[in-house]
Order: sequence, then C-alpha cells, then structure tokens
Amino acid sequence: MASLYCHIPFCEHKCLYCDFYSLETRTSMQEFVGALLQEIDGYREYGVQSTVDTLFFGGGTPSLLDPGDLRAILERLQRHFHVSDTCEITLEVNPGTVGAEKLQAYRALGVNRLSIGIQSFNDEELRFLTRIHSSSEAERAVRDAREAGFMNLSLDLIYSLPGQTLSAWAETLRRAVGLRPDHISAYSLIVEAQTPLFRMVEEGRVIPGSPEDEASFYEFTMEYLAGEGYEHYEVSSYARPGFRCRHNSAYWSHENYLGFGPSAHSFWRDAGRPAGRRWWNIASLSAYLERIAAGRMPVAAQEELGIMSLANERIFLGLRSDGLDLHRFEQDFRFRLQERQPDFILRLLEGGLATINGDILRLTAKGYLLCDEIARRLLS
Ligand code: SF4
Repeated sequence: MASLYCHIPFCEHKCLYCDFYSLETRTSMQEFVGALLQEIDGYREYGVQSTVDTLFFGGGTPSLLDPGDLRAILERLQRHFHVSDTCEITLEVNPGTVGAEKLQAYRALGVNRLSIGIQSFNDEELRFLTRIHSSSEAERAVRDAREAGFMNLSLDLIYSLPGQTLSAWAETLRRAVGLRPDHISAYSLIVEAQTPLFRMVEEGRVIPGSPEDEASFYEFTMEYLAGEGYEHYEVSSYARPGFRCRHNSAYWSHENYLGFGPSAHSFWRDAGRPAGRRWWNIASLSAYLERIAAGRMPVAAQEELGIMSLANERIFLGLRSDGLDLHRFEQDFRFRLQERQPDFILRLLEGGLATINGDILRLTAKGYLLCDEIARRLLS
C-alpha cells in the first residue's frame, strides 16, 4: 500500500502563525496545475509497485482549487497509480474559500473526507490569528459539507492562544463537538521562527501561553473529548470509532508515500528492503515551475535512511500515535527494544505513563504529556 500527497501552495491570506510553504496569490495557479501533472507523470514507474490507499490534498489552501483542476489532477493520478476503490481521499478546506456548490463538486469528484481548518469558534481569536473566516462561516461550511454528502469530516482547532482562558477554549471545543465531526485535530499554538507571530513575540507585543497553561488545556481536551466518545489515537488527534485519519496513520507507521508540489516530502522503501529513502521538493513555486519546465524533477535533497535511523523514527512515531508494535519492531530491526531499555520501560509502566497490551507499547494520557521526553530517553 502507498499514500499520495499533493501540496497546493496558494492561500488567500497568509495567517500570522503559519510556516507551511504557500504564497498569497493565485496568479500562477494554472501554470502550477500543469506543472503538477507533469511531476506526477515523472513518478509513473512507482505506480506499478503498489496500490494507493490514501490520497491527501494539503497546503496551502487546496480548497482554492477549481473543481475542474482537481478533476485533472485526480485523473492523472488514476492514470499512473492503482487507486483502491476504498481509497481515503482528503482535501483540506479553509471555510472562507468554499460554498455549498464547490463542496458538492468536490464530493462528486470522489473526495470523501474533508479536513476543515476552523482553529477557533471565537471571532476575536480568529481575527488575532488573521484567519479569513468567521465562526459562523465555519459552522456553515460544516453544514454545507454534510449536505454535500461528506460522511467523514475532521475539524482542526488551535489552543493555548495568547491570553486565551480555559473557558474560552472549552467553548470552542463545545461548539466543535456540537457539529458532530468524525475527527478533531487539536494543536497548541506553536510560535514558529520566521513568522509574523515570532517577531511579535520577540518584540514583546504578544506574550505566548505558558507551558503550564498549555498542559492544562491539553489535559482538559483529552478528558472532554474522551467523554464525548472520541478516541485519542495520536498526540493531537481524536476520532470517533472507525474515523482515524488513514493518511496520517500511514505516515506514522512508515508506509510508502509520494508527495507532489513545492515542499512536499516523499518516503519510499522497496519491498523486502529494511532501509529506505526520503526526499523533498524545493519550497519555492518559481523554482518548482522552472525545474518542471526544464524537464527536471523539483527535488531539493534526499537522505538514505539506514536501519537505525528508521528504528529511531519508528519509536518516535509509534509513541506519538497508537503505540509501538514491539513484535513488528523486532522483525523489522532485528533487536528487542525491551532488552535494550528494560529498566526505563518498567518505570514507564509502573509510573502509569505507558501500558503494554499484547505487543503494543502505548503511552497513556499522562504519558502523551511527556511524549517527546519519553521518546528521547527510549532512543538513547
Ligand atoms: S490558510 Fe492554512 S496554509 Fe494558508 S496561511 Fe493560513 S494556516 Fe497557513
């Protein structure tokens, strides 16, 4: 099985906290779509190797794509890859860029999952984040999506905003759950370097939330969503039973994936080989277009991932998500983690930070709070 990702590098407006690669323009959209089709052609030999089980349009703002362009991209992918009948096809949506008609067109093209970037149901917070939508537009987008026939909806939310109170965050969560989404991704606001938010913090114009506040928001989120019937299956991801994001789960379990578009990453491991290769595209639309026009692939760099690098990644990704399969780990990497780190694993179990069920070593809610630290200790 393999997964495919298309990065659509355009946004109506650049949000002040965002460090994803995207441009505040749509003028090169047509040229970009043509180049993307050519890039997909360049990967045709991968298409014969495996069936595609998940397909994800991210960005940027993929919901700026005209349905006709999306159709062309899907047709090109289907020409070169065997896309399974049950393929999860996700498109990220900014509520400020869609209406009922466009959502219906996406659904008719076979998109079967939407990830809607809502972030907050508080209009003041949305203005602070410089989002282009209001809370009522967000609610309307969710309703329109359901009416268009989407049976699998995910909402993205952000907490620990500067000055945010726990009750304000609780209200956002309450309104989100009231829309009955199938999946919720809840992230703490990260002050990324080279964003306007970073400069505002450096200049003292914004004071970020404290780590203690962040921990209490996180604990509240876990408890509240568990009470509403959502499984917490990754540090930031919560799903109703049967609605985990298959695409992200494929990343976290080291399945093969190909990424198209500026800044997109790919990972591939040939069948039967323990080592793999990761490569990524240049994060510049103009350079991307030039490379494709010159008949070259837009790859910026690549790295060979030996068995120990992959073992370390597997530990990190497994702990962040649904747990580490110790049996599969031993099969793939030829050593038993339990024998390398017996004391530390015992301490995790005794301290209520992890459980072992069958072969799965999984962090508890308390363990998720310390996920990075635990992963670092296990890696060492
Ligand atoms: S819409 Fe999304 S990708 Fe675009 S700037 Fe905002 S957060 Fe970043």
